[in-house]
Amino acid sequence: MTLPYGKQQLNQQDIDAVLNVLHSDFLTQGSQLPAFEQALTAYTANEFAVAVNSATSALHIACMALGVGAEDYVWTSPITFVASANCALYCGAKVDFVDVDPMTGRMCPEALAEKLAIASQQACLPKVIIPVHLCGHSCDMQRIATLARQYGVRIIEDASQALGASYANTKVGSGDYADISIFSFHPVKSITCAEGGVALTKDAELANKMRLLRNHGICREQAELEYFESEPWAYEQQFLGFNYRMNELQAALGLSQLQRLDKFIEKRCYLAQFYQSVLASLPVQMVNPCPKSDSSWHLLMIRVATAGMRRYLFDEMHRHGIKVQVHYIPVYRHPFYQNLGFTANYCPAAEAFYQQIITLPLFPEMSIEQAEQVVSVLEAVLT
Ligand SMILES: *Cc1c(COP(=O)(O)O)cnc(C)c1O
Repeated sequence: MTLPYGKQQLNQQDIDAVLNVLHSDFLTQGSQLPAFEQALTAYTANEFAVAVNSATSALHIACMALGVGAEDYVWTSPITFVASANCALYCGAKVDFVDVDPMTGRMCPEALAEKLAIASQQACLPKVIIPVHLCGHSCDMQRIATLARQYGVRIIEDASQALGASYANTKVGSGDYADISIFSFHPVKSITCAEGGVALTKDAELANKMRLLRNHGICREQAELEYFESEPWAYEQQFLGFNYRMNELQAALGLSQLQRLDKFIEKRCYLAQFYQSVLASLPVQMVNPCPKSDSSWHLLMIRVATAGMRRYLFDEMHRHGIKVQVHYIPVYRHPFYQNLGFTANYCPAAEAFYQQIITLPLFPEMSIEQAEQVVSVLEAVLT
């Protein structure tokens, strides 16, 4: 038996929802997509949702909607999936990394304040910063948003891992601390569409831009056409967009999954509490949410004493069929980013964090017995 670090949970209702679409007239651009988008704005209490074929696409059109271009800088966290940084490069912009808190792996507000002060003096402030809610634990968004306001910088929160989490008594994705919020519906995330993502915003103009960008830059609203005014069949491509559309199968699955989101998060919290209680007596530290927040517990991450111990633990876990993972190799360490000129030790706190972390299995279908099994291997290795 093997135990993955994360996995989707599907039921008959999900399967029926997808089958209903297959039996219907519209496989794409039907009623499921707007229904899913509406449900997401209702859940997060945000205004507008633009669902697309992945969170990567959502990050890309979010950067474009905020006007990120060749002259701009975008800053993100080095401890993330590469998509958080790649989205800026798709726009021709330059990427830079703000170091993390060495205990949590999340963007460090002090490091951000320092870097913004220097950039301000040198007149090279970023246009956008992309904090990442690692593990589904929100970043300290009040402090990050205050800094962003102070320097006139926009925020895209990469909440790919944090659907269902809360921060300061509002749902992550509410738009209270970010211009645009991104969620992913990849199978390991809080809910799944197989592949999918969404960008949420309170700004009608940004939402409209992102809607056009996901569909080739094509406008069909008669009132907004610039050139082909009178013909009833008229549509216009007004700028260069993409086909990033989410199809009806994906939207129907997402809508069905969303009904069980709170149950999924409840189970994740329950398992996290179990890990918390049994790991307390072991020489490891859990990566925990900040006090003001409730996590979606996307990843159960622990820090061990040394890089050597991490490697030994990784190998032993895999030998027992427990597919632990490491999230993440700092983005700037990838050869592509090294070729852009980043040094191997670019963010010292991210390096230290990366050396010690390991992600244990945690997903809604996992049983306490399976968690006990993980802990018993962990105990055997560490003691
Ligand atoms: C999963 C993830 C993404 C990418 O999501 P896709 O839907 O696979 O494109 C981006 N950023 C973070 C932090 C993620 O965890």
